[in-house]
Amino acid sequence: MKAETLSPRLEIRDLTRSFGARRAVDGVSLSVMPGQVTCLLGPSGCGKSTTLRMIAGVERQESGSILVDGRMVCDATRSIPPEHRSIGLMFQDFALFPHLDVAHNVSFGLTGPRAEVRARVEALLQRVGMARHVNAYPHELSGGEQQRVALARALAPRPRVMLMDEPFSGLDDRLRDDIRDETLDVLKAEGTAVLLVTHEPAEAMRMADEIALMRDGRIVQQGAPYNIYNAPVDLEAAAFFSDINVIRGQVRGALTETPFGQFLAPGVPDDTPVDIAFRPQHVKIDFDRGGRGPNPTRIDGTPARAVVQRARFMGAESLVEFRMDFDGQILKARVPSVFLPKPGMALWLTVRRDRCFVFPAKD
Ligand code: ATP
Repeated sequence: MKAETLSPRLEIRDLTRSFGARRAVDGVSLSVMPGQVTCLLGPSGCGKSTTLRMIAGVERQESGSILVDGRMVCDATRSIPPEHRSIGLMFQDFALFPHLDVAHNVSFGLTGPRAEVRARVEALLQRVGMARHVNAYPHELSGGEQQRVALARALAPRPRVMLMDEPFSGLDDRLRDDIRDETLDVLKAEGTAVLLVTHEPAEAMRMADEIALMRDGRIVQQGAPYNIYNAPVDLEAAAFFSDINVIRGQVRGALTETPFGQFLAPGVPDDTPVDIAFRPQHVKIDFDRGGRGPNPTRIDGTPARAVVQRARFMGAESLVEFRMDFDGQILKARVPSVFLPKPGMALWLTVRRDRCFVFPAKD
């Protein structure tokens, strides 16, 4: 490997913006390396789009700075206009120019010798699989095809950074998955740093090298999708990615007692209430050993009896709601769909202890 240190393509430091009394973006910092995709993920209104718009230069920040390839494009004293920031944009309402054909949509804004422009357009259309449609007009293309042309157009001036705001939300499910993957391949091949905004956890996990989880204008957790999903910083972060079951425990000697036996709660002081959270796919139905009583050596805890309230067949798996005998609490489980239990059926459940998150209880 070459001994070169990569530096961030995009770096933002302490970006802040208020609307009236409301802090829409509150001290956001992050950096994106070449060929990397970082996803700003969070619920509606958490400040994702405002962050993106400030980076694009169409919204003015109150404080903070933005650097592209180490060059300051905006800080307290200067602001380079959007078209000179070397930033490409793909937004939800990506409109192609309706009166221009595909080739002219992509070449729009490109300067330089005609032959070079032509070669660049051809190479890009080839790359996004639209070379056959070079003379088509936008209204002759499907949504997915228009999206591909929009990608080629955004990439044409070789932006160092690409900002994408829910760019795939207008497409139907299956097409969306294909276009996401193709778009990623193209962006990675170009070495573009991508900052993608979405409110969909599945999209973020599919696309991102790194997720920055936002809430109320701040980044509350940042890391690889695997880490964010498997080691959420709090209950809200855990619940953002899937349904979540929560049982309350009380700590004694670094252990907490639950209907599923004892769980480790390292570092939590005695008598502290904790929330033990786990995802529905980590609830297991215990067919063989149910009812044989507690066994503290089992990783999946002691079986607890529960009665099926509802069961829905979902294809690959079934969603089942159980009422726990212990305290009447409802638990949600995703179980393999080879088994669809009937309401009223009593079963024994376990939970994998190593898949549980233990958080200080919040009321
Ligand atoms: P969504 O996913 O719904 O687009 P978001 O996370 O992108 O949400 P923003 O659009 O950045 O959120 O908005 C953050 C907050 O700032 C919201 O409360 C929003 O109402 C407010 N806001 C955004 N733009 C303006 C504006 N021009 N004037 C007043 N308030 C605004």
